[in-house]
Amino acid sequence: MNHDLSYILNHLGEEREDGYHAVVPPIVQSGNFTYPTVEAMREAVRYEMTRPLYTRGSNPTVSILRKKLAALEHAEDALVFSSGSAAIAAAVVSFVKAGDHIVCVQRPYNWTKRLLIELLDRFQVTHTFVDGTDAENYRLAIRPNTTLFITESPNSLTFELQDLRAVASIAKEHGIITLCDNSYSGPLFQNPIDMGIDLVAHSATKYLNGHSDVVAGVLAGRSDHIRQVMSKEFMTLGAVPSPHDAWLLMRGLRTLELRMDRSAENAAVIARYLERHAKVKRVHWPGLPTHPQHALAQQQMKRVAGLMTIDLNAPDEASVERFCNGLRRFLMAVSWGGYESLQWPICALKGPDGYLTDLPYTLVRLYIGLEDAQVLIDDLDKALERV
Ligand SMILES: *Cc1c(COP(=O)(O)O)cnc(C)c1O
Repeated sequence: MNHDLSYILNHLGEEREDGYHAVVPPIVQSGNFTYPTVEAMREAVRYEMTRPLYTRGSNPTVSILRKKLAALEHAEDALVFSSGSAAIAAAVVSFVKAGDHIVCVQRPYNWTKRLLIELLDRFQVTHTFVDGTDAENYRLAIRPNTTLFITESPNSLTFELQDLRAVASIAKEHGIITLCDNSYSGPLFQNPIDMGIDLVAHSATKYLNGHSDVVAGVLAGRSDHIRQVMSKEFMTLGAVPSPHDAWLLMRGLRTLELRMDRSAENAAVIARYLERHAKVKRVHWPGLPTHPQHALAQQQMKRVAGLMTIDLNAPDEASVERFCNGLRRFLMAVSWGGYESLQWPICALKGPDGYLTDLPYTLVRLYIGLEDAQVLIDDLDKALERV
């Protein structure tokens, strides 16, 4: 059933008669649930995946959130995990076995990359990273044992897009399952399932929660796929959310539309300001007409979110550091998607033996939060003078 957005965010799944008719659903902070008779308990054991028996499987507070997230992603069902990485790992592991091969976009989220390189490699699951800006590269990388395509459009550091419709259609021709990390856009700005993608993962830590106080993840897709992941990887690896975190996430969702719109609106103003600044070589943000994949962004994304990377016109590391240390309104921190603007300097990825990345030290990732855009521009303006 198709519900309007306000209904999903404000009401869907909230059976208020089961919660003292409270406006806000209770946090059912209980690990287990009781039954009056053996017959009732037998029934609960039989339907463990859908009814409360034990909170690792099903919990009433988490269940409300699952319904909302599935509806937001136009999916039949959704699971909530204790992190975005757990959601991605459970999905990937569920659709491969020893001897299988995965095709993944190059430069995915770091822990997705390490899942393939450091973990699955030990279990004889091989992978190929491809330049996803041309969907045909996915086709060219297919082997007889390829079972899974991983996309992340756009990725969260250099913002390369994949044509999700094209990648999904190549996969369908070959009976390959597709997974999209949709953390950047969230369900309001992009719906990969509508473009033929099978499974959508999110770091709910970012926009979905939106308050920088919860780490959580989401996996959405067809009922049979979600049932498979739940009865195997979800239950055995056990990266489940606490009812309290699920409740906080639900609270975050109430303002999802407002927050996303504000962040995107601010980002558009700031990207245009930065693009014109002499100390900025390039702004990596798919919302700018100068972005090489702007046309594709307009086709498959409803709006472009508030995360971007700038390439400074900086002669040396010291001037990049002066810029970063000079910003007052952009907290220096990893992650993004909260109310507060953040900066993540690539030059922080320098270890005792040199750089841990092949990206240039002149890159600084900016997350544009909910502040007044002019306040952020004034702050950037002052800091850029120090480059
Ligand atoms: C943060 C992030 C993840 C991982 O999510 P966690 O909640 O930190 O485990 C995955 N993909 C993208 C694009 C992210 O930004």
